[in-house]
Amino acid sequence: MLFDANRKVATKGARSTCPLCGKECIAKCGDIVKHHWAHRVDEDCDPWAERGQDISTWHRDWQEQVPQELREVVIGPHRADIVTAGAYPKIVELQHSNLAPSEIRERELFYRYPQNAHGMWWVFDATSAYNNGRLDVYGKTIVQFCWKRPRLSILSCQRPVFLDIGIALLNVLRVDLDESRLVGIAQVFTRQAMLDRITGKASGDFDDTLSCNEKGSRVSNDADDTIEWSYVERD
Ligand SMILES: [Zn+2]
Repeated sequence: MLFDANRKVATKGARSTCPLCGKECIAKCGDIVKHHWAHRVDEDCDPWAERGQDISTWHRDWQEQVPQELREVVIGPHRADIVTAGAYPKIVELQHSNLAPSEIRERELFYRYPQNAHGMWWVFDATSAYNNGRLDVYGKTIVQFCWKRPRLSILSCQRPVFLDIGIALLNVLRVDLDESRLVGIAQVFTRQAMLDRITGKASGDFDDTLSCNEKGSRVSNDADDTIEWSYVERD
């Protein structure tokens, strides 16, 4: 975790207490691993926490782009990855590893309005799928995508889903299973568009541009800061 009970960051040799369970935690300040706090016993008291070093790189890179007060905000027994600024905070769940449908459901219920937040967005790490050619994207403003050996868990999501492909974010409008592939349509946003919504710089809210029908596919209206996608043939 990034912060201790006093919302202080880890410094070499420091000890402190966990903001969730109050147990002792110690600073981990390696050269490669980003500085963080860890429980003395190697387990996290938040069962929703992601684990592992490669996980933390993508995850932490996102978190580092938002102001400190919006990262790792304690809500009940959990630490939300990112919370949007403003009077009606939403949760942004950053997900690198796979989640079971039951876990997806559990988080969406926990962060639903008016329980613990004003809703949530999922951001899934699809950078390696895109970089190694398993995930292909075609089209312009509304794009089609085709994902081989996909992350099937996104089929279970009822809240807005964004696939982070590194150079852009795909806001999934519709997705279906075709044989073993996921095929769908999406709107393309820059990462900055997401960051602007998190910090409140952009007035538009993704939920204003998205609505779910009963089947869970999403219908889009116009959002003003989508980007056009130009397909580049890859080797
Ligand atoms: Zn703890």
